[in-house]
Amino acid sequence: MADVVIRNAVLHNGRKSAPIEDAVLVTHRGVIAYAGPARGAPPTTAADRVIDAGGGALLPGLIDCHVHVCVDGGPDFMAEAGVPEEEGVARGVRNARRTLDAGITTVRDLGGTGRASIIVSGQQRRGVIEGSRILTAGNVLTVRGGHAHYIGRQADTAEELVAEIRHLHDEGAEVVKIVATGGVLTEGVDATSAKYSEEQLHAAVDAAHALGMRVAAHAIGLDGIVAALRGGVDSVEHGCYLNEEAIGLLRDGSSYLVATLSAPTRILDGGDAVPEYARAKSLEVIKAHRASFRAAAEAGARMASGTDAGTPFNLHGGLAGELALMHDNGLPLDRVLISATSAAADLLGLNDAGVLEEGRRADAVVLDGDPLSSVDAYTKVSVVVQAGVVVRA
Ligand SMILES: [Zn+2]
Repeated sequence: MADVVIRNAVLHNGRKSAPIEDAVLVTHRGVIAYAGPARGAPPTTAADRVIDAGGGALLPGLIDCHVHVCVDGGPDFMAEAGVPEEEGVARGVRNARRTLDAGITTVRDLGGTGRASIIVSGQQRRGVIEGSRILTAGNVLTVRGGHAHYIGRQADTAEELVAEIRHLHDEGAEVVKIVATGGVLTEGVDATSAKYSEEQLHAAVDAAHALGMRVAAHAIGLDGIVAALRGGVDSVEHGCYLNEEAIGLLRDGSSYLVATLSAPTRILDGGDAVPEYARAKSLEVIKAHRASFRAAAEAGARMASGTDAGTPFNLHGGLAGELALMHDNGLPLDRVLISATSAAADLLGLNDAGVLEEGRRADAVVLDGDPLSSVDAYTKVSVVVQAGVVVRA
């Protein structure tokens, strides 16, 4: 593969450091060979593919920490997510490509039908399809009859949780998703009540970590959020009802909040098309959800960005919309950038992504705008490079 040189860019390396004006990125065999000021860059050769960024912002490839790649984002998630596995695969292939085009080079998939997500993830890794890199949970773990059982494996006890985690690992899952409370998108299930004890979650986290798998907990209500955080999960998804204790744990511990503000927002945008139970539960949580996010942002809680793409009208590749919601609800622009790059990579346990520095995978995007002065910059993706391959320019 030709090496890629991106010049005339303002470099944001993904960490909390000042941008570098007139910067250059050089890749070699899919890895970053240089990222820094033009004056220190190695000379280009005739074989290089040189891209002029036109003074745009050069960032690490973006990371969406919460998607359902095999679900399209139609009005009825329950019906759409439960389709046969082959159909899930076809959707996943399309959505992975769409996501990559939006500058999102890596996603964490938190559950789909059958083995669909695992199949699509493998196809991408082996180069059979072009799309975002996918770290997938395969299926979610939930109590019998619990939220998302239609994309889940049912487990009521710690022993069952551990057994299912081992099965999923054997099948190719790389992360674990536990549904720690009720949820919005399952008819007849309340959204907030806790489903597992701290001890059960602790046992599941230990088993997952022993296999090198990070754990995401879907948690809407406070009891489930606190049980998940005390149980040692790596991220709380949604986190609609946070209190001071939960925010303290998210600030001082090692867990991240992945708020997915897009999820209830897009459901309510969808109006009558979305099933009534999902709209009613979104309305019930949305105010608390945003207030919780704002309080967590103000307190300095650890945040990683995630859309919940695949839920109603929450389309793949829509991370820019989530980042706008995060900013509108109190997260400063420098932390918005970190949430979609280095913090996301840290949550996913990826030490090869999320930061533009020598030796990391050459995943990068160019935005026609300044992400530190306007969140709209994320909607203006002009160049996408994934593992040293120019997928959009
Ligand atoms: Zn989700």
